[in-house]
Amino acid sequence: MRTATELLEAAKSMLLSLDDDDARKLYEEIAEFLHEKRGKIWKMSEIICTKKDFHKYVGPRIRNVIQAMTKKIKKKLDYICQNCKEKKELEAAHIHGKSRKDIIESILNAHVIDVQKNLVKVDLDKFEKEITDSHNPLEEHFKFLCAKCHTEYDSKKDG
Ligand SMILES: [Zn+2]
Repeated sequence: MRTATELLEAAKSMLLSLDDDDARKLYEEIAEFLHEKRGKIWKMSEIICTKKDFHKYVGPRIRNVIQAMTKKIKKKLDYICQNCKEKKELEAAHIHGKSRKDIIESILNAHVIDVQKNLVKVDLDKFEKEITDSHNPLEEHFKFLCAKCHTEYDSKKDG
């Protein structure tokens, strides 16, 4: 089977050899159509991988995105720790039972394509939107704590 580029080349030489305005227009139309179609394919950033690799490679990116989201709230809270009420550098602590990995995992479960191999197929842009949506409202998913209170809070997690 010929590739799109080969087909286009064939159409080009045939249509342009007709030396006819309609043929030229038709060629331009086909070229534009293929260009657009290819553009769409390139723009889609889809990934197929194991859940484990997803956490490993995409996880850090998601962490950055969420961190950027929490920045505004930290500022709104005037950097006052929600536990000790001291003004300090704030960290966003996931409220128990809703860790970032848990949330990623629950969304990933909807994208499993091979249960045995634990493979998922994910459109990265869509996923990023899903993950940010699922962290909203941020106040329900995070406590904003200083480093000391964050460590204390997390150490109580399983007990
Ligand atoms: Zn504190």
